[in-house]
Amino acid sequence: MPTPSKAAILVAPHAPLVIDQVTFPDPAPDQVLVKLFASGVCHSQLHQMHRTPQTAHRGTPAVFPSLLGHEATGVVVATGSQVTHVQEGDHVITTWVDRGAVEGAAPRSSATVQWHGQAVPAGPATWTEYALLSERLVVALPKEVATDVTSIIGCAVLTGSGVILNTLDVRVNESVAVFGAGGVGLCAIAAARIVGAYPIIAVDLSDDKLAFAQRFGATHGVNATHDDPVKAIHDLTGGGVDYAIDAIGAARTQEQILYAARPGGIGLKQGGTACLVGAVQELGRIDVEELRITQRTYTGTRGSLCRPDRDFPVFVRWYQRGQLDLDALVTQRYTLEQINEAVADLSAGRIHGRSIIVYP
Ligand SMILES: [Zn+2]
Repeated sequence: MPTPSKAAILVAPHAPLVIDQVTFPDPAPDQVLVKLFASGVCHSQLHQMHRTPQTAHRGTPAVFPSLLGHEATGVVVATGSQVTHVQEGDHVITTWVDRGAVEGAAPRSSATVQWHGQAVPAGPATWTEYALLSERLVVALPKEVATDVTSIIGCAVLTGSGVILNTLDVRVNESVAVFGAGGVGLCAIAAARIVGAYPIIAVDLSDDKLAFAQRFGATHGVNATHDDPVKAIHDLTGGGVDYAIDAIGAARTQEQILYAARPGGIGLKQGGTACLVGAVQELGRIDVEELRITQRTYTGTRGSLCRPDRDFPVFVRWYQRGQLDLDALVTQRYTLEQINEAVADLSAGRIHGRSIIVYP
């Protein structure tokens, strides 16, 4: 039976989202219908709403109308005939990364919802009361775990903590600098502390955000509005960090992470690694000769090589033990009706950690 749901609909670039009723079809054989508890408000959605000509050729083309959001928690209300790993009544985390990707797998099925007679791609969208997703984007969440703040595991934690665990495999006593102490950056900082990295240097433009980052494990803060972060990082570490992470994606930070990583030595050792995590809005200029001469590595990641089936239970355990303080990381809550306010607060830099939408 089709399911009516309130949803935030992106109708045109730069336009405010429209809250209206859409209708979800029953799940296809490999799909799961989830009634949502909460959804994160991820910065990458702003890029989708305000795509610039320079980035429009990258990733999936902009589609109007469409639904947004890609991290949530909810309860399974219906499953397709082929779904075996979750069942009706289970609590789940939804995400945008395949829970156990295998090379050569068939593409995931995608769903559409009906809105005034139009078919609108439902994607992994979570700024809606219900979500209809491929079973590959749904991971079970134990019933005893809170369902509000865990809604940010599906993207912020996956991306930020995943880059430390998987992409970079940071070890004890290795040094890390994180540019951008927002939701993703704080999850990277928390994971860096868990694996025993030292020092952990947060770089941001606000003293408040740097102080907040200390709660999650930052041992030092650099305010890039008055200090040159590359020089400050070199001064703090005696020559640069093992890993410099750009959780912002600005042209400037893309360039700064290269120089923040320590140089190597000819015949002696490889240099440090710069890793681009934030979605790029404007291309920086990377000097490849600098990479060759200093033997640094420049890399990037999308989804931080996470396998949600393997990694989400780890992140949930960190949360339960108090090592990953999601209760502190979620700093603002909205209703779906307040989504445009949530988006405006995020774009204006008023969110210290991550904000969420909570559904009734
Ligand atoms: Zn995201």
